Amino acid sequence: MSDTIEKLVIIGSGPAGYTAALYAARAELAPLVFEGSGFTEQNQGNIAGGQLMTTTDVENFPGFPDGILGPELMNLFKRQAERFGAKCVMEDVIAVDLASRPFTVTSETQTVKAHAIIISTGATAKRLHVKGEDRLWMKGISACAVCDGALPIFREKPLAVIGGGDSACEEATFLTKYASRVYMLVRRDEMRASKIMAKRVEENPKIEILWNTVAEEALGETVLEVLRVVNKTSGETRDLKVSGLFYAIGHKPNTDLFVDQLKMNEVGYLVTKPDTTYTDVEGVFACGDVKDPVYRQAVTAAGSGCQAALDAERWLGANGIE
Ligand code: NDP
Repeated sequence: MSDTIEKLVIIGSGPAGYTAALYAARAELAPLVFEGSGFTEQNQGNIAGGQLMTTTDVENFPGFPDGILGPELMNLFKRQAERFGAKCVMEDVIAVDLASRPFTVTSETQTVKAHAIIISTGATAKRLHVKGEDRLWMKGISACAVCDGALPIFREKPLAVIGGGDSACEEATFLTKYASRVYMLVRRDEMRASKIMAKRVEENPKIEILWNTVAEEALGETVLEVLRVVNKTSGETRDLKVSGLFYAIGHKPNTDLFVDQLKMNEVGYLVTKPDTTYTDVEGVFACGDVKDPVYRQAVTAAGSGCQAALDAERWLGANGIE
């Protein structure tokens, strides 16, 4: 372990982490940012750059009237933070000790001490665990259409998306670029999605919405071939011949590292003091999706990253750590 004590370590990247890094770097705190490791099939929660790395066009980030690709936007965020001295490393943090000061942060290759920590670990796409899913995971079943949808196994094939939120609409629309047909399974008789996104799906001739429908079983020898679904109103079972199944059913906050160390709500989101990014441990701050079950937007995450850096800077100053 190095003898140096970092003033500020930021765990997690994405709009929140990089914005915190930008502000902290400009405040000359030289933050060390553990961005998360590179993308693999297994670690979808720890992608350096966060969830926007698995998105295509971002149309609602202010300042980009023509839209911008998610990965391009995150690259710009990162470059801007690095320009002012943020030290970004593409590694996952595997342990933290918040019980003694300075805090200890252990990544895959190093252990560092830190006076203050900002947590921006985001959230991960949920899976349903229907029968057959574990066997066929990544053999036709995925939680990210944008990451995997362009693969040859899905080209010109019928595909299915589960969910009725904005993500499901976005993914179903995206998949129509490649698929012959997209079934969208919505478990109720209405969507949670915003009106504009729902309308786009409803008007897309390649998308068939199956209302009140849930998945029962994924079938196939070596790859997904059939999705057995049930209509909850009629009780009728139907076998959809699909080569791909994509989950878009929401997210789980990435807070396993902090269990029994930081206050969380009943579903694992970090709890911060009202109108601040302070967690219940002094010197530890949280921003972005890891503490936000409500808004979860890139722009709100970026805003809370800025707040976390300002909170951390002021807290460090108040404690004589300049
Ligand atoms: P949401 O929580 O908004 O929606 C989840 C969807 O999955 C709901 O339709 C929900 O159904 C359904 N669902 C949940 N669990 C199950 C289950 N076990 N079986 C079947 N269906 C299930 O998540 P999203 O990821 O869609 O969106 C999260 C946030 O991100 C939102 O604020 C959204 O607006 C935003 N977003 C914005 C985008 C944009 O503007 N470009 C793109 C993507 C997301 P039910 O409604 O019945 O609970």
